[in-house]
Parts: sequence; C-alpha cells; structure tokens
Amino acid sequence: MRLSPPSLVFAAALLASIAARPTPLPAQAGPLTTAERSQFTETSRHADVLAFVAELQRLSPKIRVEQMAVTPEGRAVPLLILGDPVPSSPADLRGDDRAVVYIQANIHGGEVEGKEAAQMLARDLLLGRTTNYLDRLVLLIVPIFNADGNERISQANRTNQAGPAGGVGDRYNGQNLDLNRDGMKLETAEVRGLVEVLNQWDPIFFLDSHTHNGSYHQEPVTWVWGLNPNGDPGILSYMEGTMLPAVTARMRDTYGTLTIPHGDFVDPTDGAKGWVPLDPTPRYLSNYVGLRNRFSVLNEQYPYVDFETRVRGAYHLFLTFLDYLHEHRDEMVGLVRAADRRAIGMGTSPGPQDVFVIASEAKPIAERLTIQGYEMEVTEGANGRRRVHPTDRKRTYANVPYLAHFAPTRTVAYPRGYLVSVPDERVLDDLLAHGITVERLTAPATARVEVFTATAVEGAPRLNQGHHTTTLQGSFATETRTFSAGTWLVRTAQPLGPLAAALLEPESDDGLATWNFFDRYLAAQFGNQPQTFPVFRLMDDTNLVTETVRRRPRVE
Ligand SMILES: [Zn+2]
Repeated sequence: MRLSPPSLVFAAALLASIAARPTPLPAQAGPLTTAERSQFTETSRHADVLAFVAELQRLSPKIRVEQMAVTPEGRAVPLLILGDPVPSSPADLRGDDRAVVYIQANIHGGEVEGKEAAQMLARDLLLGRTTNYLDRLVLLIVPIFNADGNERISQANRTNQAGPAGGVGDRYNGQNLDLNRDGMKLETAEVRGLVEVLNQWDPIFFLDSHTHNGSYHQEPVTWVWGLNPNGDPGILSYMEGTMLPAVTARMRDTYGTLTIPHGDFVDPTDGAKGWVPLDPTPRYLSNYVGLRNRFSVLNEQYPYVDFETRVRGAYHLFLTFLDYLHEHRDEMVGLVRAADRRAIGMGTSPGPQDVFVIASEAKPIAERLTIQGYEMEVTEGANGRRRVHPTDRKRTYANVPYLAHFAPTRTVAYPRGYLVSVPDERVLDDLLAHGITVERLTAPATARVEVFTATAVEGAPRLNQGHHTTTLQGSFATETRTFSAGTWLVRTAQPLGPLAAALLEPESDDGLATWNFFDRYLAAQFGNQPQTFPVFRLMDDTNLVTETVRRRPRVE
C-alpha cells in the first residue's frame, strides 16, 4: 500500500508539529532513530546514522567506532563495536571467551528496516533495555553498509512496498554494483572492508538484513542460513534442525512476531507444492560466510506490511538471534572450532568421502513449513498474459516442503591443494584479501597433478555486474609436471580450504574462472587448440619447498 496524498499531507503536518514542539526526553532515553522520530514515515540518511552513533558514544563507554570502508562516493561506513569492556582491537580478545557476533543492514540501499532496527538495537543494549548480551558476546554492528545507495532516497524507489512515505534509497553502490553479488570477486570497497573484518575479528555469527519482493504471506520476517553445500555439514545441519525451530518458536512466543524461512512459492497458484530460497552460490554474502564455516543468516523483511511492523520485526529477529547466541555460545563456538578442524583434516589427508561439490539440486529439509498465506487468483490481462495475485482471503498452507537442502549431483575428489602457474596479481590479490594462505615455490618442484583442459569456454551473453561470466567445459587428466620457482601453492589444509576450492576449481559455479579472472589464459590467442586451465589440482602428499606470501601493505 502507498500512502495517499492526504495522508502524506497529514504526515507532513504531524512532522512539522513535532519539530515545532520538541519534547525533551529523559537523558537515559537516548536518541531516537529517524524512523521513530518521524512516526515511521522516513528512514535515516547517512548523516542521521553518524549523528545517532555519536550520541550513543556520548551516553556509553561500551561502544567504539571504526571506519569499515570508504564508499566510492567518499562516505565512511561505520563499524560499531559494542563490548564490556569494549575491545580496542581483535588482539584484546585473545584469552577472552567472549564470542564475536556481526550484524549488518542496508546492503541494498532501498532495504532500510535493518538499518533502523540496528540503531535501535545498539541504543537499547547500551542503555540496559535488553538482556545484557555483553557479558558473553562482543557485537559488531554495521547499520548502513551501502551508504551510497541509501543516499539516493526517492519516492520512486521500491514503489511496490508499504512505506516509508518519504521514500528509500536504491539497490546499488556508487560503482553501480550489487554488493550482494560481490562475495567472491571482491570488486567493491564495502565488501573488501567486510571481509577484512571477518579476517580480523572472526565473528562466529553473521547476519545480513534485507527486504524482499516476492510471494504474498502474512509473516513479516523471514530468514535463512548460509546454503552452500561445500559449507561445514555440522553447521548446516545445526541451522536446519536446531536453530530453525528454536528461532521460529522464540520469535512467536517471546516477541509475538511470526516468521518463516526466506523463500518464494515454487508455484504461486499452489502453495502446498513447495517453498524455495535463493540459490546457494557464495556471491551472496550469507552463502559466502557459510562457506567460511561460520553461522550465517540472510534476513529478508516482507515488503507488503507497514514500515513500522517491518522495522520491529527485524529488531525482534536481531534480539532472538542474540538471545540464542547468548544462551548457546559455548555450543556454537564448539561447532565452529570443529568445522575448522574438519576443514584442515580434509585438506591434510582427503579420504574417498571428501569431495568438492560442483553441482547440486534443491531437496526438502526434514522440517515441513506452515505458511500463513492468501488464496491466490489467476487472471488474464488484455495482452493474454497470466497474472497471479492475492485475494484478501487468508489461507494456511500446511506441510509445505522447504527446498533448502542442496544435495550434490556432481562432485570432484577433494585435492590437497592448487598450484597456480600464472603470476596474475589479480588472482593473488583476491585470494589474499579473502584471508587465504598462499605460498610460493622457492625451488622448482615436480608433482603429480590433475590438469583441466577446457574444450569449451562460454561467456554469458548477458552482462552481470559488468561481467560476461565464464562457464568452462572440459576434462581432467592426471600428469606429472614440473613447476617453476615462483608458482603459487594454495593448500586446502587451512580453515578457509573450502573457500579456496570454490575460488580455484575450474568448474566451480562461482569461482575466479566464473568472474573472468582466467579468461585471458583460456581464450586461444592463435589457432583453436584446447587450453590448459592454469590451476592444477595437487592430489598426492608431496613435500614442497615454499615460503608464505605476505600481503603487500595497501597503498592509500
Ligand atoms: Zn536485498
């Protein structure tokens, strides 16, 4: 629903009357967000968020602020660090059993509920209005991740949703890129800033808050975990089997808010057929953090309920996850440590059961869903096109399969490492930025490797994020090859081994090959001979003489 012009006039008059008669708030009340001050007709600008955060710093010693990134248009992206005591750096947490938790919002500049809720959360926690999470947790909060997109506030954006009347920003950052497609290629300062925070602070939990445009239902809040099938099976099954029912129950029973997992109806005319989430590729940051073997959540607000309900829904979801983390911290830290050990073990001595998933198929998880939906109507427009739209008759869809388990349909044996034979600085820079350990051969070495020969190199006809993404077809052969000194070696025996594999496997559906990093080595410059992929899979236990590559200090 859009507010009609008379309501807008009323809202403006109300706003003017509020501005004319400022009601002094008690000191301990803290600042109000722009959404609260405007009776949920406006959302915060970048300057509003900075002023709000500065006010929190005046009220509490338990918050510190860092610049996580500077946007292409020159705006600072603030990272709020909340702790008791507040750590001055990640090094302060050595020997400290507090777990680090990360919540970000506004990655799509028009999706603003999380931005308002994150500010409310920081204030209410610092002023003692929530459970005191800070005895066991350190919170990292990024309320305005896509500051450039947020500032393009206009009533012409996201016109399908119910408010705020004053309008919202748009989706892209200052480079016209979608930050939620940048998980692997790392072409934006914002996502690079995030990945640096993940590398430095190692949060066990990550939440990325959005607003959806999709199927009609009554629940105002949805969420789903990191879905990539190369993520740790222990964490995946905990999210599916333990956290999903616990979060649904707490949202309903403690906070009076209905939730369902994020998704859309497979068939909008028949809700019972199934409910399907986003695809599991790690270009999406929630899947990316899942592939890093940490607890990860994509949160999507439902756009067709009013703005205040959406903001309060996001706020309740944040509290619910914090409640859960506060109560289950040791169990969750244990699962993360076990995931790291499993990743290192797989890379150290891969067994026959250890694989990298190249392709998967969405299957139902064990739990069936109940979705409070509407009866749908199909009409035929003048152009003969079929339109499906909701009626005002509510309808409960019970026993709905949720297709959120991505079962492997094609796998390759998990290698011990990858040898990269081309000295491409962009490849090295990306690997190091992700926090992956890279070594360099200091002497020539001979090793048995799997070699991928590309027989087809297809560029997508349609541009995606400025890329014609590449898909490779070809085959592997086992060869003994000699590699020169200077060849890079990426071992999979490291906590980020699965991420390294996803970046370097030639047939990965979201790897560096996909994003054109290897195109120049694969497109024949002359003739049409099949081309050798310049990354070789190391299969045997081979002692290699190497040194670790250090990241060059960034030139500012
Ligand atoms: Zn979004």
